[in-house]
Amino acid sequence: MSWLTDFVRPKIQALLGQPAPEIPIDLWVKCPKCEQMIFHRELQENFRVCPFCSYHMHLSPLERFNFLFDDAQYHILPLEKTHDDPLQFKDSKKYTDRLKEYRAKTKQIDVLAVAVGDIGEQKTVVSVMDFNFMGGSMGVFVGHAFYEAADKAVKQNLPFVVVTASGGARMQEGILSLMQMPKTVMAVEKLAEAHLPYIVVLTDPTMGGVSASFAMLGDVAIAEAGALIGFAGLRVIEETIKQKLPPEFQRSEFLKDHGMLDSVVHRKDLKKTLGKVLSVLCGALVAPEKAVRT
Ligand SMILES: [Zn+2]
Repeated sequence: MSWLTDFVRPKIQALLGQPAPEIPIDLWVKCPKCEQMIFHRELQENFRVCPFCSYHMHLSPLERFNFLFDDAQYHILPLEKTHDDPLQFKDSKKYTDRLKEYRAKTKQIDVLAVAVGDIGEQKTVVSVMDFNFMGGSMGVFVGHAFYEAADKAVKQNLPFVVVTASGGARMQEGILSLMQMPKTVMAVEKLAEAHLPYIVVLTDPTMGGVSASFAMLGDVAIAEAGALIGFAGLRVIEETIKQKLPPEFQRSEFLKDHGMLDSVVHRKDLKKTLGKVLSVLCGALVAPEKAVRT
């Protein structure tokens, strides 16, 4: 908040002839897209969507759960811990040290958090990826936790929702991170065999190994407005195919227009949309012979 502390505050001090009160550091938030300053409370009331350019900011799993579940009531599912550093990886820093830093910063064990609660009065298992934890990268923990969460949904006969946000595979876990792609696909298959709805909510960004596995397998695929969704980045594709791509390429709206998504919603409408989809699909659960699955 340099303009507040370096410019506004000294001006107030000069006017009042006395020190201006301390301004809490998190009172204003700068939009990463349009760079407008937004009042923190206004941003929270707008579901952390920029009121100037509609940029949907990253949410922590707890913020997401609070926005999605009825009356912000839910129960966090404890997840089994996996081996932290199977390859004893080190680049400029030890992988274990990086994990420690991100755990302290986000208060999460790893990228995925799972909770059970009601959405539109339908009890649902919801998994949320945290982009602020190592770019939402998928390693052994994510694959295992995703499988565990899907298993819980099957055992309790509940629909399963995943909210994705990821830059791709976790390079510090090498081939083991890639092995999570088939593992998560197996979890989705398990839900399909049990005739349970699997709904994916794609948020900004959903890229790489996550988009190439469970993120694109939803019975219903909903994306938040303006989200970047794809496998490889735009520049890599342009260099490979030697063609210029449109600027909106890999954005939710473009993907919906080309049949990759069912719906694109503003975050303020997400809970309502999910509630409707769940009520329709779970109505079909009562009569499984009527449930249409591919
Ligand atoms: Zn903005």
